[in-house]
Amino acid sequence: MNQKEVSRQLYRQVMMDHARAPHHLHPLKKRANTFFAKKINQSCGDAYGVEVEIEKGRIRRLAFDGDGCAISMAASSMLFDQVQGKTIEEAESIIRRYFDAVVAVGCKQKPDVTGLGELEMIIHVGHYPSRVKCATLTGHALSDALAKARMDQSV
Ligand SMILES: [Zn+2]
Repeated sequence: MNQKEVSRQLYRQVMMDHARAPHHLHPLKKRANTFFAKKINQSCGDAYGVEVEIEKGRIRRLAFDGDGCAISMAASSMLFDQVQGKTIEEAESIIRRYFDAVVAVGCKQKPDVTGLGELEMIIHVGHYPSRVKCATLTGHALSDALAKARMDQSV
């Protein structure tokens, strides 16, 4: 195996671990200071609700719930790991950089993976336009929930 095959196999392993046992996959609780959003991917059947609990401008806790393909599960698990504990602005920036990296891969440009952590392993879905929605669905939902949090002056 060459280096590229080794890293591809490692990537697949990490992705499958996340898909089999996703982090942050919990029933949503709708507590105080918690913001919610829902997204559906018609083409694949992925459907998720997400919620984010904000304390002093930071993500104290976040969860997603629903059902979908392995890519959507793994991407949600990795993304939610990456934004846990971050400020709203930092989390929005991570989501934006993740989306930009997926687009860059799709355009055969070199992606900027700064601060993406394990998400770097899933940006190659950019090569498969039909799967991009799977990998970014809960990112869009999280982005909506964070926008609601930012508009709420009490947190
Ligand atoms: Zn999917």
